[in-house]
Amino acid sequence: MAKRKTSSLSRRNFLKTAGAFGAGSMLPPLNSLTAARTQFESTATRSNAVPIRPFGKTDVDVPILGLGEAFGCTSNLLLNQAIKMGVCLWDTAAAYAGGNSERAIGKYFSQFPADRPKIFLVTKSSATCANLWSKDLAKSLERMNTSYVDLFLIQLVCEAENLGSPAENAELWAAKAKSEKKIRFFGFSTHKHMEKNLVHASKLDWIDGIMFSYNFRVMRSANMQAAVDACTKAGIGLIAIKTQAARWYGQSNKDALDANEKALLNQLLKKGLTIEQAKLKAVWDDRRIASIASIMKNMTILQANVAAAADNRKLSMRDKQLLDQYARRTAAFYCAGCASICEAEINNEVPISDVMRFLMYARCYGDLAGAKTQFNDLSSNARERMAYIDYKKAEQKCPQGMHIGRLMQEAATELA
Ligand code: SF4
Repeated sequence: MAKRKTSSLSRRNFLKTAGAFGAGSMLPPLNSLTAARTQFESTATRSNAVPIRPFGKTDVDVPILGLGEAFGCTSNLLLNQAIKMGVCLWDTAAAYAGGNSERAIGKYFSQFPADRPKIFLVTKSSATCANLWSKDLAKSLERMNTSYVDLFLIQLVCEAENLGSPAENAELWAAKAKSEKKIRFFGFSTHKHMEKNLVHASKLDWIDGIMFSYNFRVMRSANMQAAVDACTKAGIGLIAIKTQAARWYGQSNKDALDANEKALLNQLLKKGLTIEQAKLKAVWDDRRIASIASIMKNMTILQANVAAAADNRKLSMRDKQLLDQYARRTAAFYCAGCASICEAEINNEVPISDVMRFLMYARCYGDLAGAKTQFNDLSSNARERMAYIDYKKAEQKCPQGMHIGRLMQEAATELA
């Protein structure tokens, strides 16, 4: 377990302070109030609610289940219910739904300002330099009707080494934003070269938190385990996303896959779990992970996920074996983001792992419009060449055994 801080700017004091002044106010002197922290703790620890875990070396406790990126279509009722159940980590980004995700949060806080201190609020900027992070942060604060965010992340970091470059200057920027009390903690999110980025971050004492794809599939990798270990030892708070890791194509293999899935589903059914709940539990069983940010677009999913979080039974050896078999048999239907392996084989002409992720957004999350927008942000050269490159060597190297060539052709048609 990471060492806890005793800084005078601790979250406890921060919450004590911010609590009585509503969402958009400036901070009064520290140690002036105690109500907000008490409120946070009582919300987060009541019997039917989501358990909490320490967030790395900070002195913050976060709920193991957070609400992720679905705010563009989220009602105040659902947000209110989430708080009542202890789902008090909310994850959004400036870019989600063209700013509407943050606006939905702002709308909620303007109606329920007393709820702001109960939330560990995470937002992100996909900008690539410090000046633009400041602009994005200012807009995010305005949209969300708050004076601070708890965790500010640089989004979709491919090379964590670049965060220390003079252009990006992340360490200085983070220190300034913290001193201005606009952010409490700083870090980045990553889907690509994740192991390398995590290991690099573990050597930087100014990274407080990382959000990354972590699920029953990628946790099978020894490199990933070592990277998570390095971050845990460095006291970096870890938030898992993409925990469902659903297979998003492969209908032609349906019969073969169904046999494996059936055994898994029957096993889980005996203990009253769905496969979605089991996948969450597989991540929570890893105590190094502080929280899961899960997309919960409606009350049914929220209730099911909260029930899984509040249920303290662990997955059995048999559950884990079946989940592991399922991961192996469906490996070719999930891109693990290890881009340096396949993209080097095609001279980096196409960002294969990004395109795979866009396909996942379209096919698995049903977000075709968002997937198309991101696809069309790729260079025209990459989009035009995509369908014609020979991916044979990349396919041979791909540890997941993905049919890269076929999928790149499908993406070129489907997402153009
Ligand atoms: S296509 Fe294969 S090698 Fe490339 S990022 Fe995905 S899983 Fe890794």
